[in-house]
This record gives sequence, C-alpha cells and structure tokens, in this order.
Amino acid sequence: MVRETSLSPDDFIYPLFVTFGRNVRKEISSMPGCFQESVDRVVKHAKEVYSLGIPAIILFGIPEEKDEKGLGACDPQGVVQKAIRAIKDKVPGLYVITDVCLCEYTSHGHCGVIENGDVKNDPTLELLALEAVSHVQAGADMVAPSDMMDGRVAAIRDALDAEGFAEVPIMSYAAKYASAFYGPFREAAESTPQFGDRRSYQMDPANRREALKEVALDIEEGADIVMVKPAMTYLDIISDVRETFDLPVAAYNVSGEYSVIKAAARLGWIDEERAMLEVLTSIKRAGADIILTYFAKEAAKVLNR
Ligand SMILES: [Zn+2]
Repeated sequence: MVRETSLSPDDFIYPLFVTFGRNVRKEISSMPGCFQESVDRVVKHAKEVYSLGIPAIILFGIPEEKDEKGLGACDPQGVVQKAIRAIKDKVPGLYVITDVCLCEYTSHGHCGVIENGDVKNDPTLELLALEAVSHVQAGADMVAPSDMMDGRVAAIRDALDAEGFAEVPIMSYAAKYASAFYGPFREAAESTPQFGDRRSYQMDPANRREALKEVALDIEEGADIVMVKPAMTYLDIISDVRETFDLPVAAYNVSGEYSVIKAAARLGWIDEERAMLEVLTSIKRAGADIILTYFAKEAAKVLNR
C-alpha cells in the first residue's frame, strides 16, 4: 500500500536481434539469454514475449551484407522489414518499434555517412528518413532513431508525414551517452566501428545540463517519447528529464548493465533476481515510464508469479 514505485510487464520494451537465414538462433556470448535470430525464429520469440504481457519489442537488424553508406537499411526486403511483416502477421497485438540507425548496415560501423574520414551529419539524415519510411511501410508501429545526428527527428517526421504516416510516433534516443556499457551490444548487432569511436556524436558522460538541451531539441523537432541511454549510470538524467518535460520518458537499460549482472550471478557473486528487480525499480523510481531491457522476459516471469 505504501510502496511508491511498482513494476509491471507493461513497463517494458524487449529488444530483439533479427538476422538473415532460416532457423538461426545464435546466442550472443556476452549477453546470455539473448539471441541473433532469423525471421522465422524471431516470430516465435515475439509470440513468447507477448504471452508474458510485455506490450512491445524493438527490432535491430543484422543484414547479410554491409556497404559504405548502409543502403541495406532501406531495403524493403531487408531483415528488419521482413521481420516486421512476419510479426505483425502472426502476433498482431504486439507493438513493433524499430531502431533507425545505419551502424548495423555500414561496412565501417559508424552511424552515418563517412566523407573524408568523418561522419557527415546532413547526408545521413536523408538515409535515416528513407529507413524510417521503409520500416513503417512494412508495418512498424513506431520508429526510434538512435544515431544522435542533429536534425534527424525533424527529417524523419517530415518524411513520415509526406508518406501519409502522420500518426506514427517517434521515440528519440534524445540523451545518448558515449558509454562503455554498450560493449556487448556491439557483438550482438555486429556494429563495432572499424575506426575511431562515436564520441563525436554521442554525449560526454560528464555532462548533465547538456542532456536537457538535447532532449528539448528533439521535442521541438517532433519527438513523441524521449529516451535516456544508458539507464543505471544516468538515473540523475532520467530524473531531470522527467522533471523538466511532460512527454513520456524511456530509459534504455543497456547490454553492459545486463551483462555485468549475468556475469556476477554466474560466478555466484550476486543474487540475480534481486539485482534485476532492484535495477529496474530504480530506473522507474528515477522517472522512466518505459524501460527497454534485456531482462524484460525474466522480470515479467517474476512479476507474473
Ligand atoms: Zn548507430
């Protein structure tokens, strides 16, 4: 009765990694319990997620081929586009969100177009807008741009509106920090940059006020939900964003945050279930309405007991 914060499977978005081929289900070694799956398997997985009471998934793609510009991201026959169609067909009640970024599709692993060794902001926007439209045409309910290029929310909003998708919301990765905790994800999405790092377009972990500036810009451009990423080491940012803005706030409990608990639990150094619930509760207590987490299924099983 007096507990101030309660968790529910309703709070979660579960990330899924879709790859090419058939009957592929390859566990990600640094993220036990998470898999790269072909479309046929990802559909089964999506069914399981939905049956646990989790309302939404976010899809990441691992394409068969990568190129300099990441053009595969916009292919109507791409892995993500195929997965969206298959999931909407077999699990129509599940809300499908897609990650919109180029880093899984570029041969160099950066989130944008490279010119003279640098990531170029403006040429990237055009490709991100095409990618978002192709996801929505395939049936995605919401798109989530994760690249942190300036102006990408507006570019995607304009492109969606022009194609007749004015009602499709955008969840922006509004305050995304250059974090060491993304390490395991890069194995999962095969998106490690081949040179340099992402610090020119992701935020400095030392900056707090800058997050509010970034979030305000995304809201001005038309974001419907704003996200803070990572979550555990940025609870103050989640709280600031919650206090300052009225939009729903999402927080991404990222791969490294998941993997450290999994690893410590395997060594018998931590009580996994308690640690998981404590982390998720603290993210919600800080002000997140929505939590993207690899723990979603396990947490839902506990909460459904
Ligand atoms: Zn990216």
